[in-house]
Amino acid sequence: MLNLVDIATEPLEDYLPLITREQADELRELADKLRNRRILHVNATPYGGGVSELLRSALALQRGMGLNVDWRVISGETRFFEVTKRFHNALQGAPYDLPDEDRETYLLQNHFNAHEFEHGYDLVVIHDPQPVPLLHMHGRGDAKWVWRCHIDTSEPNETVLDFLKPYIDEYDALVFTLDKFVPEKLRDHHIALIPPGIDPLSPKNFDLTPEQCRRIMAWVGIDTERPVMTQVSRFDPWKDPLGVIRIFQKARKQVPGLQLALLGSMALDDPEAWDLMAEIRKETDGDDDILVATNLTGIGNMEVNVFQRDSDVVVQKSIREGFGLIVSETLWKGTAMVAGNTGGIPIQMPHGTGGYLVDPHDEDSMAERVTELLNDRELRTRLGKAGREVVRENFLITRYVIDELRLLADLAEK
Ligand code: UDP
Repeated sequence: MLNLVDIATEPLEDYLPLITREQADELRELADKLRNRRILHVNATPYGGGVSELLRSALALQRGMGLNVDWRVISGETRFFEVTKRFHNALQGAPYDLPDEDRETYLLQNHFNAHEFEHGYDLVVIHDPQPVPLLHMHGRGDAKWVWRCHIDTSEPNETVLDFLKPYIDEYDALVFTLDKFVPEKLRDHHIALIPPGIDPLSPKNFDLTPEQCRRIMAWVGIDTERPVMTQVSRFDPWKDPLGVIRIFQKARKQVPGLQLALLGSMALDDPEAWDLMAEIRKETDGDDDILVATNLTGIGNMEVNVFQRDSDVVVQKSIREGFGLIVSETLWKGTAMVAGNTGGIPIQMPHGTGGYLVDPHDEDSMAERVTELLNDRELRTRLGKAGREVVRENFLITRYVIDELRLLADLAEK
């Protein structure tokens, strides 16, 4: 059987102070419609990265509303996840010629996972490219199947897309974050557009006191008397941590004493991260003002919460970004950002709220904006505050769950 992931139970009542009455009513109505359906989500990893983050909180709330929902993860050796990471990169536009042995590795592992898949669900949501062929290989049974794509597929590598397309075509509905991510070749499907959202009640996002923040910052190794800029991201070339180091080096010339915190998590399905981590270590070796830390060295939800809340500026230098939960997480804490103007980031920072959107290839401008924010506390407080309101209105997990349950209820009725 595919491994089950534990899900918490978060009662809807806990979210009521944060949402409108209409939203609460709609959540209850949708939960009523789906109460007797068995729902399954399948993805590649129980921790590390935005998808597992999203599933953890969205499914906890769904359980809290009495829904019968499970989360399972596929299995695979490193070789399989190396191939699927290449698929991921290619679907975000990287060149890749998809050699026969990679096709074979991908299909073989999916056959294995399809064999392990036990049915008995009414609605199955498959996340991202790793498990796409499960539907074809296992058979649909009586269920409705949804493919949820979390990545920026606006300029996909056509070879990989063509390879996956026959498997994708069997799904009853496809979900993307933004309309511009829907590849032309898939436009004739039933498509829903659903941006993710963050859980304001999770340890990553709940409120902390300034004293707690100061103590945790110091514990991790930051001098709390000096300014700090931070990027929190998987060590992934699309998040460009090496570029963040260059921006820091430029900004430090203008803001003496500046420190950089690069916090990264190592995900089960992302073997590429280890190589990048080694490069980062090489670049930062001997620089006492740069802190590199990961989930393997004690950076958990609470530490991420603190760095997003208490850093003077948070950077997200993504070159491609499906959504970037990290942005909503940071803005929710009222911290101003300098972020790459790409993928799902701009919808989280409309009209200059939250900070500055900059062409991520223009490192001089990014460094200038970082410096500007570091030198102007009033400005960054104002931008951060506006950012928090955008998140409250649009990017909380409750809105995400409404959108997703609406789609599932529609499919279940058909
Ligand atoms: N994250 C974390 N610790 C880290 C780095 C990232 O917990 O050291 C979390 C981060 O808080 C966010 C998720 O991983 O919830 C990343 O999601 P995002 O959508 O920003 O990017 P993805 O990794 O899915 O591309």
